[in-house]
Amino acid sequence: MQIVLLGPPGAGKGTQAKSLKSYFNLIHISTGDLLRKAVSENTKLGVEAKEFIERGDLVPDKLVIELINERLSKPDVSRGFILDGFPRNDSQADILDKMLQKKNIILNYVVYLEASEEIIIQRLSGRRVCRSCHENFHVKNMPTKVEGICDICGGELYRRSDDQEEAIRNRLKIYTEKTESLVDYYSSQEKLLKIDANFDAPVVFEKLKSVLL
Ligand SMILES: [Zn+2]
Repeated sequence: MQIVLLGPPGAGKGTQAKSLKSYFNLIHISTGDLLRKAVSENTKLGVEAKEFIERGDLVPDKLVIELINERLSKPDVSRGFILDGFPRNDSQADILDKMLQKKNIILNYVVYLEASEEIIIQRLSGRRVCRSCHENFHVKNMPTKVEGICDICGGELYRRSDDQEEAIRNRLKIYTEKTESLVDYYSSQEKLLKIDANFDAPVVFEKLKSVLL
């Protein structure tokens, strides 16, 4: 099974990706993780990407595409994968299609997690992220054992500056605008599955499983 996972910030992509990964024994390819790993391992692409990240600039498409291509060339990809964070628009989707074609890989589904603005704001404004291992928690839905401390590595938790209400509304607007072309692209290929993600994570996962099985 090869899946692209889409959804605005706060729709629960990270959580659902984790459940999908363990339930279907897939690999999780997240562009954010790939970038962090390449930077920390000082690979050729990592060194290039680091320059942009340090300047606070977006990492150019070309670099991200190369990273994805490199990852999709590894043998464990035959297990199936969840692609998360890429593509972000229809031209990237087209590049991905060509990349997969060359590797004889078929993309089965594109899952779009939909959630209302109110739910997203509630989720993101309570989100806390670990500085060390980047794990996500939530003050109400997923509190840590000790307030402000990561359950996994003991690192310090922080609230992302873009997780404030105004910033969230703005990110949602930008996301919806940018993703429109992507939604059209995959609906015309009849690969798009919209999932109502306004529920708790286990409920959403049951829905997901029922459409994928
Ligand atoms: Zn941690």
